[in-house]
Amino acid sequence: MVRHSSRIELKQSAYKNNINFIRKKIGPEPILSSVVKANAYGHGIETFVPMAERCGIRHFSVASSFEAEEVLKVCRPDSTIMIMGILYEEDIAWALEHKIEFYVYNYEGVKKALEVAKQESKIARLHVEVETGANRTGMTEAEFKKTLTLLKRHQGYLSFKGLCTHFGGAESLSNQFKIDAQHKRYKAFLKECKTKKIMPKIRHIACSAAALMMKDTVYDMVRIGVVQYGFWPSPDTYYHHLSSINKTSDASLKRIISWKTNVMDVRRVPQGDFIGYGTAYQATQPMKIAVLPLGYSNGYPRALSNRGQVLISGKKAPIVGLINMNLFMVDITHIPDVSIGDEVVLIGRQKNNVINVSSFTNTTQLLNNEMLSRLPAAIPRKVVR
Ligand SMILES: *Cc1c(COP(=O)(O)O)cnc(C)c1O
Repeated sequence: MVRHSSRIELKQSAYKNNINFIRKKIGPEPILSSVVKANAYGHGIETFVPMAERCGIRHFSVASSFEAEEVLKVCRPDSTIMIMGILYEEDIAWALEHKIEFYVYNYEGVKKALEVAKQESKIARLHVEVETGANRTGMTEAEFKKTLTLLKRHQGYLSFKGLCTHFGGAESLSNQFKIDAQHKRYKAFLKECKTKKIMPKIRHIACSAAALMMKDTVYDMVRIGVVQYGFWPSPDTYYHHLSSINKTSDASLKRIISWKTNVMDVRRVPQGDFIGYGTAYQATQPMKIAVLPLGYSNGYPRALSNRGQVLISGKKAPIVGLINMNLFMVDITHIPDVSIGDEVVLIGRQKNNVINVSSFTNTTQLLNNEMLSRLPAAIPRKVVR
């Protein structure tokens, strides 16, 4: 049975290229943690993680125990999984059993981890997240001091794996003053560790943008999300790179995702007729259209109604009318010989043309990350060379 009306392909050679690019920026030493939250930014954990491992990645960061479990099902035994977000009390024992590392961002969390570690006679591998100015998660200095005391006293149960923080907006150079202040506060926490004579094994603060633009934020590990998938985190990061290589354009990063479907039907529309629901699109001339078998319930944004484009026979076919729940239509009047079953590219390259995720961002308010992370988990993914 054919269960899905679209498919996603991940290009391994593009991924390898991106990892090499990141390595060049950060050097050979730091651990490269691949951030695979939100189903690997929509790329699909199940397919993406083994592909990343084939390219040498051995560290994965996720946002929840659910995602940690998804990674655990497919990863190598020597890969490390780190939960950066919520870990519910009832899941701590499970995390300990599978040696899954996790963030603690308040004193309460450290105490709970210790309690469960004692109950289970296991070690809790903790990454202590500190508050440096993003006011998201992260513990205050007062909590941190108490935490260090606890870590020191219970080394048989608590392993001080990491000391970390997250920047609030490293993508934008106009935030530099804020990032600098955060980094400075982070160093004060490190100093406190030295004073108390208990050091984290791994120091990590850099996300993609920081790792690319601010070398001094690269410590023992970097947490790389968006860049590994081939997207510049922001125009600032791209232009910063261009000025560093003294060029006016650069294609160092390669997108790894393509999203495809096939033509469901081809039909003619008389001049003056409306296409699909309501009166959103009226044919101003006799038209030929292709019907595509997916819609907003399959992850194709409704905001692209009458605005987006797809590729058929290597040519751009504009969307006509509204994106329906399971269908939408595109204009192929200008494309000869389109048949039922022809390949349609929704995201990616076909012959000499390309549809970028960022083209969605230009016509709608969708962020790259938002668009990608909403791609339904049910769409089948496969790796291509
Ligand atoms: C998402 C996330 C990252 C990765 O961010 P990118 O900008 O995609 O590289 C790193 N650290 C934390 C805590 C995150 O939540």
